[in-house]
Amino acid sequence: MGDCLFCRIISKEIKSEIVFENDDVLIFKDVNPKAPVHLLAVPKKHVSSILDVEKLSENEITGLINSISKIAREFEIDRDGFRVVTNSGASAGQSVDHLHFHIMGKRLFTWPPG
Ligand code: 5GP
Ligand code: ZN
Repeated sequence: MGDCLFCRIISKEIKSEIVFENDDVLIFKDVNPKAPVHLLAVPKKHVSSILDVEKLSENEITGLINSISKIAREFEIDRDGFRVVTNSGASAGQSVDHLHFHIMGKRLFTWPPG
């Protein structure tokens, strides 16, 4: 876990632009944004992907989802629409093995994603 990038962001060993934090959840700006608003919401507990979500408590899961909803309102991406994405595994393009939800907004998104 000492070499997990997002665990190091959570512990603040690596700097990030944090936009929300509580005991269980951190939300910070993606360093390489793919939309005018591009945030990453992560559980503070290390979980590799959504496949391991059972390792989180129901409180931690609910808290994570609620924080995504709240931050979307705070960044005013709720009105026009926004996208929440989690990549799992190689073919989906997961590059950091710590569960994270991309929260993206302020542009038009196509469907299906590439
Ligand atoms: P994935 O490709 O795993 O779905 O998403 C990983 C995301 O983490 C990418 O969008 C990438 O830009 C972001 N990222 C990678 N390294 C860092 C970092 O050091 N700081 C921040 N804030 N974001 C990062
Ligand atoms: Zn981690």
